Amino acid sequence: MRFADIIGNASVAKMLSSMADSGRVAHAMLLYENEGSGALALALAYVQYLNCSNPSGGDSCGECPSCRQISKLIHPDMHFVFPVNKGPKASDDKPTSESYLKYWRELAVSDPYFTEADLQRAIGIEGKSGLIAVAEAKSIISKLSLASVTDGYKSVIFYLPEKMNQETANRLLKLVEEPPAKTVFLFITHAPEKVLQTIFSRCQSVRVMPLSKDEAAQVAALKPAHDKEDEAVFMDLFSDLLRAIVSRDLMSTLECGEAMAALDSREKQKAFCTFAASCIRKIFMLQQNMRQISDVEEHESDFYSEMASKCPKGFCMKTIINIDKVVSMIDRNVNSKIVFCDLVNRMFLNI
Ligand SMILES: [Zn+2]
Repeated sequence: MRFADIIGNASVAKMLSSMADSGRVAHAMLLYENEGSGALALALAYVQYLNCSNPSGGDSCGECPSCRQISKLIHPDMHFVFPVNKGPKASDDKPTSESYLKYWRELAVSDPYFTEADLQRAIGIEGKSGLIAVAEAKSIISKLSLASVTDGYKSVIFYLPEKMNQETANRLLKLVEEPPAKTVFLFITHAPEKVLQTIFSRCQSVRVMPLSKDEAAQVAALKPAHDKEDEAVFMDLFSDLLRAIVSRDLMSTLECGEAMAALDSREKQKAFCTFAASCIRKIFMLQQNMRQISDVEEHESDFYSEMASKCPKGFCMKTIINIDKVVSMIDRNVNSKIVFCDLVNRMFLNI
């Protein structure tokens, strides 16, 4: 991946290439983003630039042997750590990122803007929590203790360090603080407040900005078909729910709550919440007579206009607050049936 291929965040790309040009490469960086904003793409482009044998104009060439290996994620000095769990795609009893590397590569090469739910689906651990266990730290320590295969930088791209436990962090601390020469750690987080302070404080942190509407549309166009299928399912569910609520049909409302709880992983349930919040925002914008910035498209205009006229003032704000609470409860493993039943009930009462 070249910086030129990245959608959005041009200033972050510029900062990374300037850092590489100056020779003052930070040995540990933490890129924090709202999921899907391109932090992984930036990290990959940065590692490619650091190792390119023929860089020009602040970007890698994309053609030298190193660039080719990095673009396929098979460079021998590039390592990946990401949250895993036991699953049918790994034969090991205690799987690590290495056990799922093939699936990680396929996913990240085809869609570097993937979400945590995409990763879970790709490695076959949907419905389970991904964790970064101590075995992962041992593996990285041993890999970095070897001489680099090429003459360039060794890199560790560490996806979601917030999923790492204390023991793993303790093992890694010294290495993150004083890595071997020409070694970079790139941590990518969606929840910087949950990254253990001992790791956080050793990193230079960089904010990766959310994508604009146009940029997000460009990313969406790159997405594989299954993401669009998810969106269609979410839209059906959301519209069934709102129609049940505005027609005061409690039975159907509760059934929608059950269908939301039955989405097959916590990540998918959270993705639904993000989707529902964006739909509620559209209704709110129409109610405020701000159609031009509402993101409502032509083909969905009838539905949103109808809902904007039928939902009372205050409904949207209350619902967005309630959806936020649902996301944090899902993160804390609260029973999803209870959480979604409570959400649809509150929406029903607020109408
Ligand atoms: Zn190159």
